[in-house]
Amino acid sequence: MAELPEEFNCTITNWEYIYGLCRDVADEVRRDEFEPEVVVALARGGWFAGRCLCDFLGLDDLTSLKMEHYVGTAQKTGEPTVRYPMPEGSVEGKDVLVIDDIADTGGSISRAEAYVEQRDAGEVRTATLQLLDTSEFEPDYVGERLAEWAWVVYPWNFIEDMVDLLSGVMEKADQESYTADELRHYLAEYHDVKRIEMEIAQPNRLPEVLAEMERRGVIEGAGPGEYRLAE
Ligand code: AMP
Repeated sequence: MAELPEEFNCTITNWEYIYGLCRDVADEVRRDEFEPEVVVALARGGWFAGRCLCDFLGLDDLTSLKMEHYVGTAQKTGEPTVRYPMPEGSVEGKDVLVIDDIADTGGSISRAEAYVEQRDAGEVRTATLQLLDTSEFEPDYVGERLAEWAWVVYPWNFIEDMVDLLSGVMEKADQESYTADELRHYLAEYHDVKRIEMEIAQPNRLPEVLAEMERRGVIEGAGPGEYRLAE
């Protein structure tokens, strides 16, 4: 497992914004006159996009491929691998659109494309909602190109990422305990997550995340309105 970098920029997104990127990808596919028969959504990041693309493009064949590359927020393992294969017969002889949320190294989507091609699919094309310029792979369709690297916190991953980010800042700042305001301060300092941006994208979610962290035993109460990492 790679070391968790202590400081990296994050961008918090919301459903409307991401839905707009799904529509943009669908528009590109239509403009290109590509008519896939089945969408392969990479689990877990590509599921929402895969489902929306089926709706936009009028498809009822959606299947999934689980790739494994990341083990936590911004924590990468080695090569992406196929964790769960696709059901027998799901792509054989069919034109396929493979979709994921974001290409960072590009390893997951390019590995997935090769895997689908090996299963005797027809034409195979790829799409990602977002593309970082670190990617060595260029998908056929891209919703948005990001010039600067950031960890994108997607709405379907909000709690998981915030739990990782908040435990990371608590470890790094090394205080006895933290108020919610202090945690917001460190999110801005270490990850460029400003309070106003977080509240616009995901209003009133911090108390929910802290309660969930307490429920999972990641943090514990340390007096009124104060939290610390659990032992
Ligand atoms: P990669 O194989 O490096 O292109 O990574 C692709 C997968 O890792 C995506 O499906 C995402 O779920 C996750 N991922 C990688 N980088 C990021 C990032 N900067 N922000 C959010 N998710 C990411």
